[in-house]
Amino acid sequence: MCGIVCYVGEKSAKPILIEGLRRLEYRGYDSAGLAVQNGNEISCYREVGKIANLEALVDGKSMEGSTGIAHTRWATHGEPSVKNAHPQRDQEENVYVIHNGIIENYHLLKKQLEKKGITFRSETDSEVLAQLIAFYFDGNLADAVRKTMSQVEGTFGMGVIHRHVPGQIVVARRGSPLIIGVSDEGHFVASDVSAMVRYTNKVVHLQENELATVTADDFSILTASAQQIQRSTETVEWRAEDAELNGFPHFMLKEIYEQAYTIKNAFRGRLEPGEGVPKLGGIMPVWEDLKNCRHMVLVACGTSYYAACVGKYIFEKLTEIDTEVGLASEFRYRKLNFPSNTFVVAISQSGETADTIAAIKEAKRKGARLLGIVNVVGSTISRETDAGIYNHAGPEIGVASTKNFTSQLITLTLLALLLGRHQHLSLTEGIQAIRALEALPDQVRELLGQSSHIEAIAEKYFHCANWLFLGRKYNYPIALEGALKLKEVSYIHAEGYAAGEMKHGPIALINPEMPTVAIIPDDEMHEKMLSNIHEIKSRKGPVIAIATQGDEKVREIADDVIEIPPILDFLTPILSVIPCQLLAYYCAKFLERDIDKPRNLAKSVTVE
Ligand code: GLU
Repeated sequence: MCGIVCYVGEKSAKPILIEGLRRLEYRGYDSAGLAVQNGNEISCYREVGKIANLEALVDGKSMEGSTGIAHTRWATHGEPSVKNAHPQRDQEENVYVIHNGIIENYHLLKKQLEKKGITFRSETDSEVLAQLIAFYFDGNLADAVRKTMSQVEGTFGMGVIHRHVPGQIVVARRGSPLIIGVSDEGHFVASDVSAMVRYTNKVVHLQENELATVTADDFSILTASAQQIQRSTETVEWRAEDAELNGFPHFMLKEIYEQAYTIKNAFRGRLEPGEGVPKLGGIMPVWEDLKNCRHMVLVACGTSYYAACVGKYIFEKLTEIDTEVGLASEFRYRKLNFPSNTFVVAISQSGETADTIAAIKEAKRKGARLLGIVNVVGSTISRETDAGIYNHAGPEIGVASTKNFTSQLITLTLLALLLGRHQHLSLTEGIQAIRALEALPDQVRELLGQSSHIEAIAEKYFHCANWLFLGRKYNYPIALEGALKLKEVSYIHAEGYAAGEMKHGPIALINPEMPTVAIIPDDEMHEKMLSNIHEIKSRKGPVIAIATQGDEKVREIADDVIEIPPILDFLTPILSVIPCQLLAYYCAKFLERDIDKPRNLAKSVTVE
């Protein structure tokens, strides 16, 4: 959520910062602002709403200077308003700060500063940072930031400039990611590489409790105890074009379509078809313990949690490991008691999900080993875990996760298959699974060929205020994910249920105005799902079935059918989720929603 972009170099900062803010828009925000420094002058503008509003505000305003900081805010303390937008300033307007995160003890600090006669102008927690830095400043900005860090509790990624220290930005992090970008034309600092990939792919990750002083031609990193750190640059794989629409009306649709090749990217170079075994270099550091692991816990939030729920069934099918799933946001409050050699697997697109990070910290404290399944290379989870697997799905810009979900299902399948092959799974079963994985990209392409059919179904039902999604076993989590996707982007109320639960409650809701999406592939659950569909039809509920090609029984009874190609039972979720994504997308389109930036949502949830 919320984003930071800073630049110090030879070029004019204003257009670079605006462009960077645009790239961060997808993370979700409610207001934005920037400050550009020229000698001892700082010009600062802030605006509520879209970046376009801020752009209109600064259009034509001369904002000379090649040092600047910019921010998209997702309000936690104080309503979205101009005075609460960042940069926040101290009372003398010497220090300008942008901040991601929450200062938990801001109230106490604010009271102490007010007692010293300092006047606050915003309702934010972030303003205490600006006031404290100004309070501690005695000519050395990094020192003042370091002293401030020692006083504040909570989380921050921050960027700071000072009127009397031109050409210098001090940045610091605790809990919120910050990345320094290195180029011949200066240095960038951002909360997300997408804000700077256009200018450089050479980056340095700032780590927990570190701060850095960044100038046009240098940067130096310090620990909280003022020790100098040497860190070399890494190269990021993403290209600027990955973050463009390329002719699609929305990132969500583009990313749904990309799945044919992102699925392939998730297993490319990782299969040994002859051996029926995947190769996963990223988990080799823990392989000796992992291969003997008998207890695994998959923790995640939101869509990643539903991937974990599918993963549990896949682990039960392919391995002998006792697997449970946990919502990261609840995990810490449980009385955790892990059997020895337990692996906790954190699943997160961004690798920065605050709840998931907190969950693995707790799991580590309780003696578990940690694995990460993340998309963003170098992210916090990838660094805090003992080993892991990257999804290689490329940047996911649409706030509602789509392509990353199917990539997570692939990486979970690869992990389960690898472990299963070292347990009871036969060579034949391994080869069969690998062949099925290899067939998936073409099957996804074939399925996407039905988009206009799915669009027509959405047109028929988008006016319905309530929807039900039903599935069993592997596809029960897909019912949950289908309902979540519809809620997220179209704001239609939807419920996902295990189909067996229908008669324990939700059947009371069935009526001709409430469509049910029934996920009924040709698997061992088929007959039972068919009975559920009959029960709905007897109560005049419309049924949209997601069924395997050529399923006549379903065709006879369902109002609308979306066909998926035949595939091994435990891989059906990878196909069945795609029609759910498209239904959500098209309903949102007919309802004219802000599809890539749904209200109140943020892409990467870095606050708990
Ligand atoms: N807590 C700060 C505020 O409400 C920063 C929020 C953010 O991360 O954007 O202003």
